Amino acid sequence: MKCKMCEHQKNITNDPYFIMELETGYVILGWFQRFKGYTVFNCKEHGPELHNLDHDFKIKHLEEMSIVAEAVSNVFKPDKMNYELLGNGCPHIHWHLYPRVKGDTPIVSSVYQLPNSELFDESRRPSDEVRKDYINKIKNEIERLLSLQE
Ligand SMILES: [Zn+2]
Repeated sequence: MKCKMCEHQKNITNDPYFIMELETGYVILGWFQRFKGYTVFNCKEHGPELHNLDHDFKIKHLEEMSIVAEAVSNVFKPDKMNYELLGNGCPHIHWHLYPRVKGDTPIVSSVYQLPNSELFDESRRPSDEVRKDYINKIKNEIERLLSLQE
């Protein structure tokens, strides 16, 4: 069976939500912004589990994931970042990076307590203007953080 994420990654730079390519993955703005700044980091390697990745690649991937989350945090100033590597529906490592603020869900817990009808409602899609603004801000902040490492 073909992996939908591997297929998507062949032309990922054409995705209007594409933010940027890093060494081990692709940064994409979440299609739905119920949680402002929600961003996804897709691994370039196919597979469901971190522990199956080559060691050096895995460490680099984790570092880059952390930088993406830091950039999102710096831009959106949440109370807390959530880092979610689930993959139950799609067995290809991809991180859901959710900026969380106090009171953003009824229960202090995962975003998935909310029904899909709220998380993925069309009304939660950003306008073109907002989408481009978020993409630019996140990209600029990732580039700034990467430049500090050199
Ligand atoms: Zn895949």
